[in-house]
Amino acid sequence: MKKILFSIILLLAITVVSAQKTYILCGKLVDTKSGKIEKRKTIVVEGAKITHIHNGYVQPKSKGDKVINLKNMVVMPGLIDMHVHLEMEYDSKTRLKKYILNEADIAYNSINFAKETLQSGFTTVRDLGGSGVNVSLRNAINLGKLDGPRIFTAEKSLATTGGHADPTNGSSRKLIGDPGPKEGVVNSVEDARKAVRQRYKNGADLIKITATGGVLSVAKSGDNPQFTIEEIKAICETAKDYGMHVAAHAHGDAGMQRAVIGGVKTIEHGTYMSEKTMELMIKHNAYLVPTITAGKEVAEKAKIKGFYPAIVIPKALAVGPQIQGTFAKAYKKGVGIAFGTDAGVFKHGNSGKEFGYMVEAGMPAMETIQSATITNAKILGMENEIGQIKKGFLADIIAVNDDPTKNIKTMENVVFVMKEGKVYKK
Ligand SMILES: [Zn+2]
Repeated sequence: MKKILFSIILLLAITVVSAQKTYILCGKLVDTKSGKIEKRKTIVVEGAKITHIHNGYVQPKSKGDKVINLKNMVVMPGLIDMHVHLEMEYDSKTRLKKYILNEADIAYNSINFAKETLQSGFTTVRDLGGSGVNVSLRNAINLGKLDGPRIFTAEKSLATTGGHADPTNGSSRKLIGDPGPKEGVVNSVEDARKAVRQRYKNGADLIKITATGGVLSVAKSGDNPQFTIEEIKAICETAKDYGMHVAAHAHGDAGMQRAVIGGVKTIEHGTYMSEKTMELMIKHNAYLVPTITAGKEVAEKAKIKGFYPAIVIPKALAVGPQIQGTFAKAYKKGVGIAFGTDAGVFKHGNSGKEFGYMVEAGMPAMETIQSATITNAKILGMENEIGQIKKGFLADIIAVNDDPTKNIKTMENVVFVMKEGKVYKK
């Protein structure tokens, strides 16, 4: 008897829960597929998914249903940033932090960074390198313990000895040691394979390599090639075995070419990309992740005395201002553009600025939004789940006040955020 009663209660509870729908009344709705902005639509959300899209404003029939009024707003799918670092936010003390912070400190810091990212309209991100705390952060968000975006993480970036992501760059001789594949440092094809497998074991979703020198590492060159093509090929082939794609940080052209030929999916920054490399990118179906916001930020911060170590300043001044111009050329040439910012190099929650910089460089506003939704969803293998407001897709939905094709700055002020049917900002 008890059992039957329990079953009835459970059934009732399930019926009540599943019956609850949310009706979102949208004044304007961005169709990222067609690139058109439609008027007066109602999105119906049930659980984590979009179950209907009606023409006009439709009111719910059942009492338990909710209505969200966004009649004065422009609604679009949740945004995707392909390049963030949720473990950190760069400041003048970052060099020191490496020696004084424990993993738990990094974890506590990252809670807010994740929250700010989601609040700014980014419902999905690729975390392109940290200590490995980013794996725990992803898991905690997936379990609903923390508010944050859906994370695809590279765990720890791969570098060669002395390369951009060598974790002991700039340390004293006593601390410099000899990090290997376990720490993400490789110097042969064998090391490369092991480092990828180690990332898989540690819980990474994808692999990040630092194909050339970088701006913020304590090293002289910001653009020298740092992997052999054989090492890159071994990384990409091994990653493929584990269902992972590879992102390559690259400023210099030689290292970038090796990365594209070696099989990476995205080139991050792309600062000194030649016409020839652009053609190779098109041929190999690789995408450029521009990170213009980070370029502007480092060029600006390099002017503040003491903000960066002396060795970083000339690199920041040279690389930073180049990025936007290269993006403009690559876009014009027809290279695929995957929206990404390098948030963490600048303060989290400001990734929306990238849209304005892309428009400034010649990409139409609607295409910047398509890049941050449809294109990125495809690279992540989620093109049937996110990046569009469509029946059956996850209810990742955001809203801004203005029409972004008339005022792109509106992307810096996201006023409504829903992720998988749950409202995080209203
Ligand atoms: Zn980065």
